[in-house]
Amino acid sequence: MTKLTELTLCEARDGLVNKQFSAQELTQAHIEKIEETRALNAYITETPDIALKMAQASDEKLAKKEELRPLEGLPIGIKDLFCTKDIRTTAASKILDDYKPQYESTVTQNLWDAGAVLLGKLNLDEFAMGSSNLTSAYGPVISPWKIEGNDRQFVPGGSSGGSVAAVAAGSALATTGTDTGGSIRQPAAFAGIVGLKPTYGRCSRYGIVAFASSLDQAGPLTKDVRDAALMLKIMASHDPKDATSATIPVPDFEKLLSGNISKLKIGIPKEYRVEGLNPEIDALWAQGIEWLKSAGAEIQEISLPHTKYALPTYYILAPAEASSNLARYDGVRFGLRVPGQTLDELYELTRAEGFGKEVKRRIMIGTYVLSAGYYDAYYLKAQKIRRLIQQDFEEAFKKVDVILTPTTPTAAFAIGEEPKDPVTMYMNDVLTVPANLAGIPGLSVPASFTKEGLPLGLQILGPAFEEGRILNVGYVLEQAAQFKEKALKLRTST
Ligand code: GLN
Repeated sequence: MTKLTELTLCEARDGLVNKQFSAQELTQAHIEKIEETRALNAYITETPDIALKMAQASDEKLAKKEELRPLEGLPIGIKDLFCTKDIRTTAASKILDDYKPQYESTVTQNLWDAGAVLLGKLNLDEFAMGSSNLTSAYGPVISPWKIEGNDRQFVPGGSSGGSVAAVAAGSALATTGTDTGGSIRQPAAFAGIVGLKPTYGRCSRYGIVAFASSLDQAGPLTKDVRDAALMLKIMASHDPKDATSATIPVPDFEKLLSGNISKLKIGIPKEYRVEGLNPEIDALWAQGIEWLKSAGAEIQEISLPHTKYALPTYYILAPAEASSNLARYDGVRFGLRVPGQTLDELYELTRAEGFGKEVKRRIMIGTYVLSAGYYDAYYLKAQKIRRLIQQDFEEAFKKVDVILTPTTPTAAFAIGEEPKDPVTMYMNDVLTVPANLAGIPGLSVPASFTKEGLPLGLQILGPAFEEGRILNVGYVLEQAAQFKEKALKLRTST
């Protein structure tokens, strides 16, 4: 039998219902895997006792075969940006210290209500700012992927680095992430797993530590597309506690995986052939087009003319919102407090000590672009360009049903070989940020490897609230790419 930690979420669900193993056995296997893979530093907080208790409760329900919930007894990990009641929530920042929220985020509450089991809280870039997981106050996460015959350690991507490493290493069946500019899709591509950023408003932001509120969105990280469909169905809900949460009904995404994309129109945006796009990724893109064509889809070149402004626009708006959201960490209300002679000094000392370098950089950029005198030139201008980027997509989706692009311009880089200047690091997000600015859903599917054997992903973008459609296209790509089978061969042949 396949090892319990190698099952997909859906396979584990079926195994539990068919009594092939118990929820406690399944959970125990994952707890052991967490211990075995501690060197990856994927978890900030492990909660084995809570996990086993939740699994026991699920086993009781499974025994009675009544009131079975959709994720009954399935052990998952949570990005440490989601507040979990009475369980330490750090946002990977020193400033939150030992903070234990008094409430539960809506997304995690939905998961527990559906019967999922909490394995622990996962590492990330500090306050979700980064593309490498190198900015965490709890140390970097190491990707489970290696190049054979080579000792170099690779980044898992970011900011949901712990979330992708856990899924790729088998120390969680699935995990949650958040995506403000690419933090679900980019690390999913680096780690060879599936990552879905839903439409803005699909999942409630209530109880998620805020980075840039008009862009932040929670989503699943999973071993395959079907698992992403199952997770999203549970994570998504209308929530009166989040004024931007959508009232649109949540479909059964798993049922929408028909595998039929005949006559579907696929747009290929010419502006995404950005400078610095790795030739292997370009080749994969061409391959992806072929796969969809042979499945009966129609390919059409499209134009998203404002694409080149997306990254600078993002790096004005995201820091602006972050600087405002992070004003609350003052040493009075949450976590760390460094006492001073005066109240101002307490604020200064706490923030100087509590925030890392990247977070400080964002706060400074954010306060600068919002300051009187620069507001019109930067912030207001960026808001206007954001609208134009949204309109580009609206126009495109009048002609095509989905858009296919690569997820990242390069594969994962080795720790120590990361770009040293922040702007080059920000280039990681060049293909993912437009979807956040437009609020539309995006899915990354693992599709191929570099010649060294590191994973590469393809991204599918769709109109707002058409997650079902992009998941179905992802499902077709997944079958064509045979990524898992090839990964297995790669591992066994070396
Ligand atoms: N890498 C991007 C940033 O640093 C995106 C982060 C995210 O999506 N949370 O802002």
